[in-house]
Amino acid sequence: MTSDPLVERMRPFGTTIFTEMSALAARTGSINLGQGFPDTDGPAEMLDAAARALREGANQYPPLPGIPALRAAIAEHEQRFWALPRDPGTEVVVTAGATEAIAAAILALCERGDEVVTFEPYYDSYAASITLAGAVRRPVTLRPGPDGRYTFDEGELRAAFGPRTRLVLLNSPHNPTGKVFTSAELSLIAGLCQEFDTYAVTDEVYEHLAFTDAAEPHVPLASLPGMHERTLRISSAGKTFSCTGWKVGWATGPARLVSAVTRVKQFLTFVNAGPLQPAVAVALGLPEAYFTGFRDELQARRDHLTAGLTAAGFAVQPSEGTYFVTADITPLGGTDGIEFCRELPERCGVVAVPTQVFYDDRDAGRHLIRFAFCKRESVIEEAAQRLSKLGR
Ligand SMILES: *Cc1c(COP(=O)(O)O)cnc(C)c1O
Repeated sequence: MTSDPLVERMRPFGTTIFTEMSALAARTGSINLGQGFPDTDGPAEMLDAAARALREGANQYPPLPGIPALRAAIAEHEQRFWALPRDPGTEVVVTAGATEAIAAAILALCERGDEVVTFEPYYDSYAASITLAGAVRRPVTLRPGPDGRYTFDEGELRAAFGPRTRLVLLNSPHNPTGKVFTSAELSLIAGLCQEFDTYAVTDEVYEHLAFTDAAEPHVPLASLPGMHERTLRISSAGKTFSCTGWKVGWATGPARLVSAVTRVKQFLTFVNAGPLQPAVAVALGLPEAYFTGFRDELQARRDHLTAGLTAAGFAVQPSEGTYFVTADITPLGGTDGIEFCRELPERCGVVAVPTQVFYDDRDAGRHLIRFAFCKRESVIEEAAQRLSKLGR
């Protein structure tokens, strides 16, 4: 009993790159633009509601699918922003962040050996959840096109589908590339889902962070013809309301898909975040101005950091959404993002993360690194100043 007790299929998953890079940031006193968490609190109305709920006794198990007020708010939010009608009684379930919703969806829908098509670079929990379920990932690589926007090859996407394909796991707006999938790209994906009769699970945690200069605005895959009945849509309060530590997420979709997720989720966490659920209900009901104001603020931070990175000598891939922008280190003489990120704190006091760890095809991302711009203006400015030392 002295060997590694971890089951074999999980052994390739070490500690995440965020653990290493955040420790490096702390040790060197660097500005941490590695991990994507905001450094300011979310809307005051939401924080006040949470404090009130905590004092007024909302401290026991909420109902399995989430408190009725939150499910109603999630359904209203989806109708208001995306014209997706949801029955809060059967078509909405609250989860421990988007992360649990993704894990529960894959565990609920995939038999051993089933295949999951997803785009790489992928959010790091995808590969782990697919592996935990005994399923197999079929990544399709996103590569910067001639205009700098990341795109994929239609033939590669088609080739990723086969008789064992159970679902497509799509993240748009996309972390780490900042890509917002266009309606033409979504139509291709939707067509293949229908041709191969698969489900779609969409990770839309950045649904409110598609910037005004994106090639096209964000569109949920669920709203495309023929997709409603086969799509499970996932989102979360963390990114939209700057409360990544709260871990309040949700999944919506047809009752039979939501029920499958709920039946798995009840044995993962059962429920979570009792006093935070009424607060997220308040946040989801905030006027339009909150959502557009938040987007405009992040877009200005993106512009500021992009300018700083460009001035420092990086080839910046344009970001159309999310908290992130990726940059090519080649013009600065870099060849390997991991090495480059390990040295960056010493060289200039800034931490980033190499995106190659989010690819199966490591070479496709070897020269790319990711910076988070969900930070205060003064922090972005200081980071830009520090990065300007790199080229000298
Ligand atoms: C942050 C993030 C998540 C996790 O959301 P939680 O609500 O914190 O679990 C999932 N997917 C993507 C793409 C993310 O960036």
